Amino acid sequence: MITELWRDKLDVIFPRSCVHCGGLVEGGRLRHLCPTCERLLFVVAAPHCTTCGHPYFGEMAENRLCEHCEALVPEFGEGKTAVLLQGPGRSLVHALKYHHGLHVLEDIAAIMAAVPGYAEYLRGAVLVPVPLHPRKLRARRYNQSRLLAECAAAATGGEACVEELVCRVVDTASQTHFDRATRQENLKNAFALAKGATINPAQRYVLVDDVFTTGSTLNACATVLRRGGALNLDVVTFGHG
Ligand SMILES: [Zn+2]
Ligand SMILES: [Zn+2]
Repeated sequence: MITELWRDKLDVIFPRSCVHCGGLVEGGRLRHLCPTCERLLFVVAAPHCTTCGHPYFGEMAENRLCEHCEALVPEFGEGKTAVLLQGPGRSLVHALKYHHGLHVLEDIAAIMAAVPGYAEYLRGAVLVPVPLHPRKLRARRYNQSRLLAECAAAATGGEACVEELVCRVVDTASQTHFDRATRQENLKNAFALAKGATINPAQRYVLVDDVFTTGSTLNACATVLRRGGALNLDVVTFGHG
């Protein structure tokens, strides 16, 4: 456990740089995003699409047809996202996913806790991370969705728990030689219930992924949980884009 005092000392020895602009982080609420970049962070608030969480702007609020998920037939109920995947939001996700930037998790947890309605949405749920294929997990050494699920659980003040109920049985990342349609089809069979996983029909489950792009990965995992008996099933992501 690092105390505040030690943190301050470490900051003198190893000054923190902003994951977005590379500048020095001094002051502000976050430790790895400078106050200027934090202001550029697009935090999602209502009104937003209830399926993918993308915010509605102006005139979109009327007809509620979302261009980001209109091609999706969701196997889940609702969806919510914390930030738009642009500018600093994208930098945070990229640091976590591609640069082993586990240090940004504390900022991500703080951002999640500050998103309107985010913690309330997750309260009382079992959070189920979208799994990585074991081969990918060995290469990256951690599943970012699992870590984000833990951040999300922390944002609820411990009123949600994380269970790895779904596993990935097909490494779709290694199927780049297939065309898009085939890969989409294969994605549908890429997941299975984890060994020993039990689903309680009375429990609400929320699938967690780092980003919402087309929703097809979340949907494939949702199908597995539905077949396993989950009746109350939603999704959440950190970023959208
Ligand atoms: Zn910055
Ligand atoms: Zn949508």
